[in-house]
Amino acid sequence: MNENENTLGQWSTIKLLLSQLWSKGNFSQKTRIIIAMFFLLLAKLVHVYVPMIYKRVVDRLSIENTDMLVVPTALILAYGLAKLSQKVFEECKDLIFVRVSRQVQRNLAIQTFEKLHQLSLTFHLDRKTGGLSRYIERGISGLEFIFQFMLFNIIPTLVELLLVTGILFATFRPAFGLITFISIILYIAATIALTEWRIQYRRKMNESDTIANQRAVDSLINFETVKYFTNEKFEIQRYNNALTQYQAASVQSQMSLSVLNFFQTLFTTLCMVSVMYFAAKGVVKREMSMGDFVMVNTYMFQLFAPLGFLGFVYQNIKKSLIDMEKMFSIWFETLDIRDRDDAIELTCCDQGKVEFQNVAFAYNADRQILKNISFTIEPGKTLAIVGESGSGKSTISRLLFRFYEPQSGKIVLDGHNILGVTQTSLRKQIGIVPQDTVLFNESIYYNIEYGKTDATEQEIFDVAQKARIHAFIQSLPQGYQTTVGERGLKLSGGEKQRVAIARTILKNPKILILDEATSALDTQTEKEIQKELLALSQNRTTLIIAHRLSTITHADEIIVLDRGEIIERGTHEELLAQKGRYATMWLQQLESGQKRTIT
Ligand code: ATP
Repeated sequence: MNENENTLGQWSTIKLLLSQLWSKGNFSQKTRIIIAMFFLLLAKLVHVYVPMIYKRVVDRLSIENTDMLVVPTALILAYGLAKLSQKVFEECKDLIFVRVSRQVQRNLAIQTFEKLHQLSLTFHLDRKTGGLSRYIERGISGLEFIFQFMLFNIIPTLVELLLVTGILFATFRPAFGLITFISIILYIAATIALTEWRIQYRRKMNESDTIANQRAVDSLINFETVKYFTNEKFEIQRYNNALTQYQAASVQSQMSLSVLNFFQTLFTTLCMVSVMYFAAKGVVKREMSMGDFVMVNTYMFQLFAPLGFLGFVYQNIKKSLIDMEKMFSIWFETLDIRDRDDAIELTCCDQGKVEFQNVAFAYNADRQILKNISFTIEPGKTLAIVGESGSGKSTISRLLFRFYEPQSGKIVLDGHNILGVTQTSLRKQIGIVPQDTVLFNESIYYNIEYGKTDATEQEIFDVAQKARIHAFIQSLPQGYQTTVGERGLKLSGGEKQRVAIARTILKNPKILILDEATSALDTQTEKEIQKELLALSQNRTTLIIAHRLSTITHADEIIVLDRGEIIERGTHEELLAQKGRYATMWLQQLESGQKRTIT
């Protein structure tokens, strides 16, 4: 995914966020928000009132007999109490809101993860894991910032600014309020305009950061290939190029930040200097007391603190919105494979009859992969598909799983077009031992258990025995708890394949697909496993994809595929008698097998 495409827009992002925050029916969440807002209001009111107490202290000290400390002391105590209560109100607000923000964060992370799992194979084959995890990571931390600052800082700070301007306006000369108000407007306008201008640098930074992360993750996942080709330097160079772009973008970003900081300071200084000048003049002319002077000064400081904060918050909210846009855009990725509203559930009582009726399919419009494929596998029978590499054999199994949908023709399971069946119920009926087994970086036990997540230990041991891997696992120092490494790379090809067979036996599907299921095994183990697979396929509809023809001679029907078309079909004996492509392949394999035995 490109950083600039598929973006939602900031208003849509905010709307989506608010809908999550103020979600329908979530009464306790709404109550918490209201209570947190109430505490926030209390804290702000006390904050605005504090300089008035301060003014009275100063006036008392300058007017009254300084030996009489009772009143000033009481005022100072009130001042301390006010400060303390302000802090307590703020902490209460944080404490109450933290549950809401964590809850929403968790909901969003789960919904994004769920959406990712709903997306089709096409999306997952195109994505880059490193970049994707970065979008989610940045999106979630952006969310935290927005909650913390947009709701509890930007809006309350603007209210505080208006309150203070109003007090200055009403209590002293109108010039005070006017100068302050104009300065704030200029400050906010400059902050928004300059921040908008800076966003391009932020986007560039994000883009190059994502690329750098994608490259690092991709390179580390493929560390074996990197080492085979001794391309460490090449990988470092690629990573370095991305980091160099990031560096350039962040320098530009820092420069633009300096420009922004300069203008912000210019407006605040001009405001402060002119207001303090008028206040000093007022004191000299006896129009204002010393307490008034101190109060104006305190308000100025109190104003500029959140103002400085406002700039920072605005910039970071913009940044967070950009980060979140990308995460939310995952939600709006189109689901190219979706359950229809009236989709039915396949039940366990179905028999497992599979029919392909004139199926045509292409991954990309410009290259047809399957043409007019028709076959039927009766319940409990076995169909084998053979053919050259790339002829479309595995594509047939992907279509049966409905990872893709045919352009024309129908795939029918027990009389139901699979387009009208829910994906989950369809996939529950089918088990596959794939060509390339990829395992989770967890224990062997976990990987076998994946076939049925509530399986008992005995069930796991039984299927491991059937897959001829139990003895090997027990011989390992950590037995079933041995971790298999990233994508199962710590196991040999044959061991991985046997784990895959064990977990498929555990799944106990009605329809079984064996896609070169024993290609990584030695001849002896293959023979043993073939027996188990044969037993497994008893009373199950079985689709075997094989290169080694000796493994499919028992099939009820064999079809020979050539560039996406069926060119021959029949039983092993019938096909031999036809003396066509199958017979030639059989003879070739027989000869090379004999040669191997002689040598
Ligand atoms: P093999 O015996 O080598 O496993 P196969 O007969 O199973 O080959 P398929 O995996 O079905 O072949 O692939 C058929 C063709 O479709 C191949 O040429 C492959 O390059 C192409 N192909 C497979 N997956 C995709 C994809 N996701 N996008 C585009 N083309 C694809």
